[in-house]
Amino acid sequence: MKLRYEGFSPGTQEVLADAYTMMASKLGNTLQDGAAMTRWFGAADRTRLFRYLNMMAAVVRDPNRTLTFVNRIDAKLKVEYKSLYNPQLLPVGHDGLELDGTYAYAFPTDRRSEIGPMGASGLMSHVGSGMRIYIANSFFGAPAEERAWTVYHELTHKVLATEDHSYDPGTCLGFAAQPAKAMNNAENYGLFWRDC
Ligand SMILES: [Zn+2]
Repeated sequence: MKLRYEGFSPGTQEVLADAYTMMASKLGNTLQDGAAMTRWFGAADRTRLFRYLNMMAAVVRDPNRTLTFVNRIDAKLKVEYKSLYNPQLLPVGHDGLELDGTYAYAFPTDRRSEIGPMGASGLMSHVGSGMRIYIANSFFGAPAEERAWTVYHELTHKVLATEDHSYDPGTCLGFAAQPAKAMNNAENYGLFWRDC
């Protein structure tokens, strides 16, 4: 992917580029690490899981796609990522989580024209709001590895239309017993990436 930046100094652009590069450097591992797959996705159908992981790798490796990082540090906006299947929970609401303590977020992928929960086929990355990741207050204070998996986490919202059922590692680990939920939870991919 090509990287674009909105509102970042050269120094912070470098931190974002490093997070992206670290994220991309483990894509090969994400397609091979069976132990990590089992840990975070349990008995998930492997054909389906590999389709999702390959979609992620294909989008990141596509030199014609652009990923835009948007500076939302100290923004007053409140947002919580939820599926468009739950229209009452759309982002930019007034009941979302505060950006204090938030690393990053993305606006949802529009899945309304799809057939079935993940669509009948193919990539879903031609999304209306583009590949834009909003960087919030806690991002730059996080360890480098966590910044990298935050980028992977956010990209799953755009490419796989994942949701945020939980960020808690213990809860995410428990989702492995419910593979459909694990495969729909962005942080399961983030923690999976970490362990690959
Ligand atoms: Zn998320």
